[in-house]
Amino acid sequence: MAILMIFAMLLRLSIKQSCLRHLAIANTSRMSIGQSLRELIGNCALPANEARILLAHLLEKYYQLPRSALLSRDDMSLNEQAFQEWESLVSRRVNGEPIAYILGKKGFHNIELLVAPGVLIPRPETELLVDIVLAEITRLNQSTRVLDLGTGSGAIALAVASATPLASLIATDQSTEALVIARQNAKFLNLTDQVQFSQGSWYEAVGPQNQFDVIVSNPPYITDRDPHLTQGDLRFEPPSALTDYASGLSCLEIIISQADEFLKPGGLIVVEHGFDQSEAVIALMKLAGLVNIQVHLDLAGLSRAASGRKSP
Ligand code: GLN
Repeated sequence: MAILMIFAMLLRLSIKQSCLRHLAIANTSRMSIGQSLRELIGNCALPANEARILLAHLLEKYYQLPRSALLSRDDMSLNEQAFQEWESLVSRRVNGEPIAYILGKKGFHNIELLVAPGVLIPRPETELLVDIVLAEITRLNQSTRVLDLGTGSGAIALAVASATPLASLIATDQSTEALVIARQNAKFLNLTDQVQFSQGSWYEAVGPQNQFDVIVSNPPYITDRDPHLTQGDLRFEPPSALTDYASGLSCLEIIISQADEFLKPGGLIVVEHGFDQSEAVIALMKLAGLVNIQVHLDLAGLSRAASGRKSP
């Protein structure tokens, strides 16, 4: 029996290795310098849409050509330097690295952000928070103070600032590495006057007697037991931006329970949470004495954010 099991294990291992070798061969040997863009896409180990994104990046970098050149010039070939970089980008992606880190940028709401492994890659669902904050600023229709807790790349704060001159923001993060990237983004987007950055854990980064019209946060909310943390793109992102190393609710609890102290009367708090955390987050908001509590659905129809107000 034991011998049979060992045999089965060895067989599985050798099948796995031959699959990997196959992938490596498909990746390296079928693509060669001199091939047209069309052939490179066809011969690449990646899905065609991903191959196109990487090629478009190289066409812009090496030839200042727009993405449409993938169609209009699909018979052109890459020079040696561009081809070498193409091979390296493809193999990074084959190894699972997220496209946003490979390109060093990610579109979010109405802006483009620099991203690197020190920050979470902004997600489309987080654009919901930006829209809720912007709706509140439109409602107030006057200069609005906003606090973005755990800003990462600066995504929420910078998207809000770029959409309205009425917002002035403080954006915090515990990670100095993240703040370096966030400050760089503010500079590139010309928003350094509107957004100030501060290092520290949640409200510790904010001075006392500081009150805001709006508090917004997309904190780490994945439980430490979630298998997704060791799968796909998440493997490459900073764990501290994804998980609280506990139930998934501990950061949300800190942010919600102390909101009263940092909100102006009638002020709004809005937080992102996991698709299955809506009830728990609403309970935390009730416990904190917040009123006018609302659930917000993401584009997939999942409860993805909650908001509440300090009593006027
Ligand atoms: N929305 C992210 C994900 O599910 C998690 C980000 C977070 O924890 N704030 O991958």
